[in-house]
Amino acid sequence: MTSFEHVRDNLAAAMEAIERAAGSVGRDPGEVRVVAVTKNHPPQAVRAAAQAGIRIVGENRVQEAMEKRRELQDLDVQWIMIGHLQRNKVRKALETFHQVHTVDSLELASSLNRVLMETPDARCPVLMEVNISGEASKHGVSPDLAQPLGEMILSRCERLELRGLFGVGPLVDDQARIRASFASLRRLRDQLEAALGIHLPELSMGMSSDYPLAVMEGSTMVRLGTCLFGPRRGF
Ligand SMILES: *Cc1c(COP(=O)(O)O)cnc(C)c1O
Repeated sequence: MTSFEHVRDNLAAAMEAIERAAGSVGRDPGEVRVVAVTKNHPPQAVRAAAQAGIRIVGENRVQEAMEKRRELQDLDVQWIMIGHLQRNKVRKALETFHQVHTVDSLELASSLNRVLMETPDARCPVLMEVNISGEASKHGVSPDLAQPLGEMILSRCERLELRGLFGVGPLVDDQARIRASFASLRRLRDQLEAALGIHLPELSMGMSSDYPLAVMEGSTMVRLGTCLFGPRRGF
């Protein structure tokens, strides 16, 4: 059985790195929350993270998250969908997750909205996933289509609460290029706030390999898997 006894120390080290990165650009580190990414780790990983103080858990697959939640009903954590969501999984996703951070098409937004409409007052906070890496394999709306998608979500999907943007940096070694992609997501957020006339406080960007750069560019949610839990072993 895998032990997760190092999660507390690993989280403390990540918090220190976040403080340093935030301090270097004059940001308040309290603006940055850690999303513990527990995909491919067993339920004990989620429990260890919660015991270390984690309050937000990110999972990539609906089925895997459902199974973990069933075993962890006593935990007081928010479950967030950070993987590509297929439309036929929307109903189960809404039963499993408190928020969906990977909305990247009007079809997906409309499906979420339609299911939410079945329940009076049901709402779901969402982020729009934007492809900031330019890599064709990545999901996310292209930056030039972010504003039209935002307008559609606001006008047609009244049950979705658009809170900000989500991005994955390019898988390269060039730190300047990674940082530039995070800066581009922040600028896009600022443009959308002006164009749509709404507040978009959340910027989910940064993973184990690049989160200090993301914090320097305004991230409010860093998604950390490997640096908290070690390599993914399968679940
Ligand atoms: C797996 C994953 C992460 C965590 O990646 P690490 O490199 O292990 O920190 C973050 N964001 C998304 C979207 C992921 O799929």
